[in-house]
Amino acid sequence: MQNYPIFVNLQNQACLVVGGGPVALRKIRLMHSAGANITVVAPEICPEISEEFGPSITHHRREFDEQDIGGYRLITAATNVPEVNQRVSELAQAKNIPVNVVDQPELCSFITPSIVDRSPVLIAISTGGDAPVLARMLRSKLEAFIPASYGALAATMGRYRDQLKKALPEERDRRRFWERVVQGPIAEYFFSGRQQKAEQALQQQIDAKQSANDAVGEVWLIGAGPGDPDLLTFRALRLMQQADVVLYDRLVSKEILNLTRRDADRIYVGKKRAEHAVPQGDINQLLVDLALQGKSVVRLKGGDPFIFGRGGEEIELLAKSDVPFQIVPGITAASGCATYAGIPLTHRDHAQSCLFVTGHLKDGTVDLNWPLLATENQTVVIYMGLVGLPTICEQLIKHGVRPDMPIALVQQGTTQQQQVFTGTLATMNDIISGQQVHAPTLIIVGSVVSLHSDLAWFNPEAD
Ligand code: SAH
Repeated sequence: MQNYPIFVNLQNQACLVVGGGPVALRKIRLMHSAGANITVVAPEICPEISEEFGPSITHHRREFDEQDIGGYRLITAATNVPEVNQRVSELAQAKNIPVNVVDQPELCSFITPSIVDRSPVLIAISTGGDAPVLARMLRSKLEAFIPASYGALAATMGRYRDQLKKALPEERDRRRFWERVVQGPIAEYFFSGRQQKAEQALQQQIDAKQSANDAVGEVWLIGAGPGDPDLLTFRALRLMQQADVVLYDRLVSKEILNLTRRDADRIYVGKKRAEHAVPQGDINQLLVDLALQGKSVVRLKGGDPFIFGRGGEEIELLAKSDVPFQIVPGITAASGCATYAGIPLTHRDHAQSCLFVTGHLKDGTVDLNWPLLATENQTVVIYMGLVGLPTICEQLIKHGVRPDMPIALVQQGTTQQQQVFTGTLATMNDIISGQQVHAPTLIIVGSVVSLHSDLAWFNPEAD
């Protein structure tokens, strides 16, 4: 991080602006709206400054003098004379007064960000001076995306804080209460301009909390997709950022885990090298126990929770135990890996159907319906099939699939480490024998794989 971001309280604080042109005007406007007592030193000031601020600022109509530096909380230099700007910067820094020289980052001890103002909500964006255009673009995106009434909503929340503290003494309960407010009908009342109705509803909810404190939390079973964090759904992200505790396993990438609420507890329930995973029954029970403690529990699953993800087993006990839960679908490995490898799973010239199967070995054998897999004009996607790959190729050929049928292995699909190996049923084992192919790897069998050479578009640079 190049700079340390802070917001400075300038209410009734003396601030100096050196310069009186249009650039100074912009700075004066901001400082003024933050409540500063502004002194301007400049031989001339532009008419807008006197019109807008008149007697509410002090104007010394003269050249800058070294004696001007002193006793100020912040100083801004906005003249068009480089030597003056430089002098202001040196003198201010010698006295440890934060100083900003407009458009001259090397003379600044602080810089001012691009802002989106929904006071009291204030969003500051900085690129450390490297790419102001990018900062402005981000700003305009946020401007378009954040309703103007966010400010009113935030201000009202501030007014009700103390009241809610009495009604809900536990910090966690208050957080959950506010989360519901900002995502529910009360926020919608604000956004549609019905402030009075919003406040009535808010008061009602606070009164109701005073008598009945809901003790049971909720479990969110969330599909985290195959690896690329951009493939999360909005809903997944929203819930991840409200978690008190997160249960995850090996398939969930670090980047995705880092998108969960910062101070949520993280519990790893996957396999460690040479150790066993937490037994499924224990995970199911843990979800129930945590929710009964009143927590918001996120269970993060790779891909989609309902595709080879044991999602069904995990919610069964929740349903039985009357613990509320929600399930968020995710992009499954078949869809993510095929797309990022440029292999359409169906194609009018190649495959009219697509089969997802698991190649998980049971007692050393791959127990699959081979005649079904050998059907023509079909793409077969095999999850957890790496160990059984020799058997899979052998059995498919045995059941009538041509030996030169294309096959692809997609390793760590959609991530920066993605690798795609292609070959045929007859050659694949040899192709990968010298390579260190490892889980998670998805197998795709079918003539659609031949399209990969033309359609591959995602080629991350291997590190
Ligand atoms: N619920 C998950 C699948 C879990 S089974 C989903 O919907 O995707 C685990 C198997 O999924 C792995 O053995 C592998 O075959 C496949 N898989 C998951 N993520 C993958 C990835 N990023 N790249 C390749 N294969 C992946």
